[in-house]
Amino acid sequence: MNIDSICVKEFDPKITTAPHILPIYATSSFCFDNIDQGIEIFNNIESGNTYSRYSNPTVDAVAAKIAQLESHGSPDIQADAILTSSGMSAISTLAIGILQAGDAILTQENLYGGTTELFRGLLEPLGITTIFMNLRDLQAVEDAFHKHSNIRLLYFETPSNPTLACLPIRELAELATRHGALSCIDNTFATPYLQQPLRLGVDLCVHSTTKFLNGHGNSIAGAIVAKDKTLLRKKIWNAMKLAGTNCSPFEAWLTHNGLKTLAVRMERHCKNAQTIAEYLENHPNVAKVNYPGLPSHADHAIARAQMSDFGAMLSFELKGGFDTGVAFMNRLRFCTLAPTLGDTDTLVLHPASSSHLRVPPEVRLRNGITDGLIRLSVGIENVQDIINDLEGGFSDMP
Ligand SMILES: *Cc1c(COP(=O)(O)O)cnc(C)c1O
Repeated sequence: MNIDSICVKEFDPKITTAPHILPIYATSSFCFDNIDQGIEIFNNIESGNTYSRYSNPTVDAVAAKIAQLESHGSPDIQADAILTSSGMSAISTLAIGILQAGDAILTQENLYGGTTELFRGLLEPLGITTIFMNLRDLQAVEDAFHKHSNIRLLYFETPSNPTLACLPIRELAELATRHGALSCIDNTFATPYLQQPLRLGVDLCVHSTTKFLNGHGNSIAGAIVAKDKTLLRKKIWNAMKLAGTNCSPFEAWLTHNGLKTLAVRMERHCKNAQTIAEYLENHPNVAKVNYPGLPSHADHAIARAQMSDFGAMLSFELKGGFDTGVAFMNRLRFCTLAPTLGDTDTLVLHPASSSHLRVPPEVRLRNGITDGLIRLSVGIENVQDIINDLEGGFSDMP
């Protein structure tokens, strides 16, 4: 071999060694010993990787871990998962994988904003309609299934953004199954450490791993977890492969790094959030606190029945309106003003002036998003530092 060819040639892929830490397989393709082996792998006769849009060892290792977390404790559930390029691509890949023109989605009004836009703006023109309703009303859900025989998917979030409203998972999953529809839950807020929807009868789970699963705010990725391996591998994986919504190995690797501390982070997140919720509930400038861990929360009993703890997300209403909310945000020094959630540091958001600025006020108010509502993604810092900062935010208020 000439020296310029030595520069070009790859390393010997047959090197076998045992890395302690998951390596990043930054490779678009995988090579074959011979053409027969290539054919067998392409035809799924022999297992193996061909091309990283189809599968990649780094990505698959992380997907397998998330599937294991979602079904942990139920050996009868053989969950399977794929990773996607974002939480939104998990939801869109799932939708185009299992739905077609003429089908309908039954869901709630207070979904993650991007999901509502996806359903209305992208799926509706393709002939997939969405019925929005209050899913707390199980009789109304039952009636909707009778009225619309084309409902193929019951899609929901619990706890939901930003008022932490909770929905009864087992009851909704049972209704979907009885009417021949699939159920899917966005489990981003709770994570499988606090809530395992597949074990409560739900068929599919999606995640924005960007949030708590990564936990460190340094990657964007998503996951789809299914109880039915065939549905996932045939329809949903196929949609991912053809829409090209696969996760990059680097993003998967960052997610994996974060996942290692999920349990310890969630325990601290929950402990801090409960302490802050109780502090806020007793504060004279606060009209209302939305945290499922408070007995005063309308859905406390539902949350208690299906979650092992109540999570890091909470919101509260300041006495006063829009300007009070803006002034409060501007006085914070320790908490970070950033439009995400689930990171190790405490993040604060004023929905009326940011995430919900373009949502019609009547829709916003109907879902409890008042002008003075503040949302907190409680971090894992020393809780006293967070409380001191909030106390500073309240200073000078009447
Ligand atoms: C952030 C988020 C999404 C979208 O996830 P991306 O990773 O930003 O695409 C979906 N659902 C919920 C509940 C979220 O918080």
